[in-house]
Amino acid sequence: MMSTQVMTKLTEYLEENEQEALDFLKSIVNTDSFSYDKVGVNNVASKIMGLLDSKGIPYAVRENEEFGNHIIATIKGSKDGKILLMGHMDTVHPDGTTKERPFSVEGNLLRGPGVSDMKAGLVTMIYAATALKEFAAKDLCDIEILFTPEEEIGSPISRAVIEERAKDALAVFNLEAGRPDGSVVTARKGSAHLKIEIEGKASHSGAFIENGISANDELALKMIKIKELMKNDKDVTVNIGIIKGGVSNNMVSPHATATIHSGFWKTEDFDELYKGIEEIVNTSYIPGTKSTLSGGVSILPMEYNDGIAHLYEIVKKSAQEMSLNITEQKTKGAADAGFASSIGIPTICAMGPVGGNWHAVDEYMELNTFLPRMELLMRSVLSFSKSID
Ligand SMILES: [Zn+2]
Repeated sequence: MMSTQVMTKLTEYLEENEQEALDFLKSIVNTDSFSYDKVGVNNVASKIMGLLDSKGIPYAVRENEEFGNHIIATIKGSKDGKILLMGHMDTVHPDGTTKERPFSVEGNLLRGPGVSDMKAGLVTMIYAATALKEFAAKDLCDIEILFTPEEEIGSPISRAVIEERAKDALAVFNLEAGRPDGSVVTARKGSAHLKIEIEGKASHSGAFIENGISANDELALKMIKIKELMKNDKDVTVNIGIIKGGVSNNMVSPHATATIHSGFWKTEDFDELYKGIEEIVNTSYIPGTKSTLSGGVSILPMEYNDGIAHLYEIVKKSAQEMSLNITEQKTKGAADAGFASSIGIPTICAMGPVGGNWHAVDEYMELNTFLPRMELLMRSVLSFSKSID
């Protein structure tokens, strides 16, 4: 049973350190860290390492050739198992952006490149974890904090690191910004890219149209059938993005292609769609045409499941203890959370302070959510730790 005394100490620690945390946020927002700017990302990494040093939190650095480094910090708890907190240090804003529009405060809104996506989230997890280390270590699982350098370009090197660090975790909290309405993210869509290629037979369409086999006609018939596979009830989408076919206007088309993008909440829904498309591709509506299908899933979905539902319940309860009302949202964002959840680890995203207009000049973070989100993460991690036997 958590004594109220311990909770008081935890929350007092956060309150007492809010200004320090804000000053640190300002300093990393004012450090450019475009995904491709290795030096910039490592400048942010250095500041984070300095803060971890000052908090007595040990960490390991993994140096990367092309991108900034990974930092993996560890707080030892007394209970078995570990909880992974993660966030990315890069932004979508090129070197020099912070000179043009540095960190600023406009009433309740904090401004500056990456303030909400997601430098505030980085600060949130460091301070929440420090409070727990100081005052609640005996009720805690291990906490690992992973800082990644290139999320904004799809985590080409971090995907493997996230999977490696998440695979033995009991739960993963991703510190992307809380949605504008304050909600956290419990599911995201996956996406797939497919390509259909159709071979027909060319002939002069004036003199010998009957000798030709039109790949274009075959494609048109296939497209109508494929669009019928789109399932609105399950929100499985089918977009036929690019079609190409034919050689000239007086020739029966010998070749046609189409690309398809699909978004889906569950991998099994996509598998069903794929089977349907495969059947259509393997059927020649115009005798003599031959078609092939290539491509597949490119981003796995963060599928809603019992583990995520349980984690969300803990977050929701923790919010209620603070008299906060938290809701959940299913969204397309947050690829990094998808990497963790796709290997079966309960993952929740958008635990950071509330903000919006990400990647735009009017990006903002709501100042009055800074302390509450630190406290929410701290309470959620502690409550999850205590739920482990
Ligand atoms: Zn982000």
